[in-house]
Amino acid sequence: MTKKHTLLIIGGGAAGVSVANNMRRQNAGIDIAIIEPSEKHYYQPGFTIIGGGAYTLKQATRNEKDLIHPSVTWIKDHAEAFQPDDNTVSLGSGDKIAYDYLVVCPGLQLDWDKIKGLKETLGKNNVCSNYSPDSVEYTWECIQNLQSGTALFTQPPMPIKCAGAPQKIMYLAADRFRKKGILDKFSIEFFNAGPAMFGIPFFAKALMKVVVDYGIKTNFNHNLVAIDGSAHTATFETTDSDGNKQQVTKIYDMIHVTPPQSAPDFIKKSPLANAAGWVDVNPKTLQHAKYSNIFGLGDATSTPNAKTAAAVRKQVPVVVDNIFGLINNKQIKDGYDGYGSCPLTTSLNTVMLAEFSYDGKVTPSFPLLDPRKNRFIWWWGKTTGFPWLYWHLMLKGYRFDIPHLESYAKRFVDEE
Ligand SMILES: Cc1cc2nc3c(=O)[nH]c(=O)nc-3n(C[C@H](O)[C@H](O)[C@H](O)COP(=O)(O)OP(=O)(O)OC[C@H]3O[C@@H](n4cnc5c(N)ncnc54)[C@H](O)[C@@H]3O)c2cc1C
Repeated sequence: MTKKHTLLIIGGGAAGVSVANNMRRQNAGIDIAIIEPSEKHYYQPGFTIIGGGAYTLKQATRNEKDLIHPSVTWIKDHAEAFQPDDNTVSLGSGDKIAYDYLVVCPGLQLDWDKIKGLKETLGKNNVCSNYSPDSVEYTWECIQNLQSGTALFTQPPMPIKCAGAPQKIMYLAADRFRKKGILDKFSIEFFNAGPAMFGIPFFAKALMKVVVDYGIKTNFNHNLVAIDGSAHTATFETTDSDGNKQQVTKIYDMIHVTPPQSAPDFIKKSPLANAAGWVDVNPKTLQHAKYSNIFGLGDATSTPNAKTAAAVRKQVPVVVDNIFGLINNKQIKDGYDGYGSCPLTTSLNTVMLAEFSYDGKVTPSFPLLDPRKNRFIWWWGKTTGFPWLYWHLMLKGYRFDIPHLESYAKRFVDEE
């Protein structure tokens, strides 16, 4: 017999656990189930500082069972297919689960295979990546062990989760080398498939100053396509203004790779996907474009915001309130404005806190402070304050809305 839940959530990551606990706090009697295959839950924003040697994987890891409230049913399996016309989801085990309302948030997929040779060499031969709990500690090992040479950092085409992460680890590595007095023994290069340091020119300009300060060479429109671990070579594809493609091969002593990313395959081939494969939702209400009892949030959706846990924090109450709106026959609301945030670790004691919303609007949460400045207070936030907010407020389903306003940044944006 098919089991049925009032609310079924796919994915027990940042978004899924937060939605379940937020919902439960609004209505303790509601019947909620989460489909989540993993026993471990990672605070992924911590991966950058693990790679930089300022945090540990243990600090960033919890058992999933300790995060899911006993009143919520945990279905320890993975979702495989959707039957939205029947309000059911099929699982890996072959079972089907029925729902009244469905929230889809399985995150995104890391496409390691799209870079030839990467899987074979990741985690050895000085090839590291902060994007997986399996390889993040190796980043720190590489940075510690290297005393001189060429260090490369790569960024694939957008969208990716935390678009600043590929360069954040580069600044932490450069600052480690500087603090050891060996920065001048390195050639550090950034290879970015995109055309600029950041999608928002206001922050891109400020980041170029950081790049210059460390003596980093930037290579834009360079997409990593292959790695040969034993030969220590990385091959990039470049495209000139006439659209001609060329390959460039570079020798390295260490390379930090950010893998290409896309929607999970089971989403891509489902009736919930848009043409690009993402869960097709309204960017403001987060309701599915076709199925009104389905919502999506987090990294898996089509919304054009920065894919960050900070975005998830603002999306959760919108999804929860809109589901209650449907239950109570009320109008659903346009509650999400595309907020996302990226604490850019520009050194081992400073962070530039980039906060923005749809259409590249700069929308800080704090008045008076110039968002382009590298500050110690945000380093404290990154290493202590934000993880605490994540584990103790956001995942536990508390609401703490700090307003983020374009007017706070107007003076600084006008200066540009
Ligand atoms: C290196 C790095 C640095 C980052 N830095 C920051 C930062 O500084 N600030 C910030 O705000 N964000 C940052 N992020 C991004 C942030 O971690 C993500 O945006 C956030 O975790 C997205 O939440 P989510 O719930 O959508 O996905 P996730 O948290 O990834 O959770 C998805 C869950 O779905 C589960 N799942 C997958 N497939 C299935 C399936 N078929 N069925 C059921 N469950 C499934 C997974 O097991 C997982 O538990 C960073 C990420 C990385 C990797």
